[in-house]
Amino acid sequence: MARCNFCDADFEAGAGDLLLVCPYCGTAQTIDGVKFTDHYMIRVHYDQGEAQTTLLDWVSKQLGVPDDLAASARFLKSEQIWYPFWISRVDSDTKYSGLGRDATFHNEWPQRRGAYKHIKYFWKPESGQFTRRHEVNIAGIKDIDEDVRHHPIPTRAKEYFSHAHAEEFDGKVLHSNISEDQAKGLAKQIATDRQTQLVLKEVDKIEHRTDNIDIGETFLIHVPVWELEYRYGKRKYKASVSAPTGYVIESKYPRSMSFRAGGIGVGLIMLLIGAGLIALALDALGLGPMLEGGGLLSGGLLAIIGLVLMYKGASRKEAKENI
Ligand SMILES: [Zn+2]
Repeated sequence: MARCNFCDADFEAGAGDLLLVCPYCGTAQTIDGVKFTDHYMIRVHYDQGEAQTTLLDWVSKQLGVPDDLAASARFLKSEQIWYPFWISRVDSDTKYSGLGRDATFHNEWPQRRGAYKHIKYFWKPESGQFTRRHEVNIAGIKDIDEDVRHHPIPTRAKEYFSHAHAEEFDGKVLHSNISEDQAKGLAKQIATDRQTQLVLKEVDKIEHRTDNIDIGETFLIHVPVWELEYRYGKRKYKASVSAPTGYVIESKYPRSMSFRAGGIGVGLIMLLIGAGLIALALDALGLGPMLEGGGLLSGGLLAIIGLVLMYKGASRKEAKENI
C-alpha cells in the first residue's frame, strides 16, 4: 500500500514500484512523495468497440482463419492498460582510434579476374568521431510482454498526462518499476552501446575512445493498450491493440480445420517424396561407384520438412503473428 502525498488516498503499490501514479488524483510521484512533473500520455483514439472491430478485421485477413470468425467471436475481456515508458534524448559524441582490417592482394589468377592466389591481411590504424542524438525508450515495467515493449510509440503526439482521460475508458494506469535515475542510467548505457556499434562498423579493434554522453530531456509517458480476450468455438484467444493507433501489437487466432488439413497433406506428400529420394540414393550406393550423396541429403531434408508441416497442421496450437 502507498499513500498519495497530494490527495491523502491510500492505494495499491507493489514492492518493486518506484514511480507511482495515484489512481484517485492522477499525480505521478516518487515513493518519497515528490511530485514528478514530466509526465505525458498518448491520447486514446480507438475506444473499446473500435479496438475490437479493428482486431477482428485484422484477424479475418490472416491466412487460414475461419470465415465466420468475425461473426462468431465473443469478447470475454477488454481492458485498457496504460503502460509506462521512459523516453530520453541522449546527445552522444564519441572520438575513437583503433585498428581496422585491411588486405593486399598478390598473384591474380590469369583465368579468373579478381581472384588472387595470395591475400595478405594486416591491421591499419584508423580514427574518427561519431556525433548522434539517440532517442532511447525504456519500458517502466520489467516483465512487460516483449511485443508491447517494442511496439511503436508516437512520442511526437504526446500531451500532458490527464487523469480524467484515462478514467473515461476505465484505464488502469500502471506504476513504473524503474525510477527516473535508473531510467537515465539505462539510457546512458544504451546510447553508449549504440555508439560502440557505430564505431565497430569502422574498426575491428577499439584502442582508445572518449565518450561525451549527455542525457537530455527525460520524461515518463503512459501509453494505453487494449488487452483483449475473445472466445471462438471452444477456445480463448488473447490480443493487444494500441489504443492511440489501432495497431494490432500481438494477436493469437484460430486456423480452420481445412487449413490445418492442407498443411498435413502437403507434409505427407513431402515426406513421401523425401523417402523416395532416400531410397533412390541408397540404391545408387548399393550399385557401386556412382553414388550420389545429394539425393540422400535432399531426401532427408524434405522428409524433415514434411514431418514439421504435418506436426504443425496436426497440433491444435493457435497461430500467432507479429507485424
Ligand atoms: Zn492522489
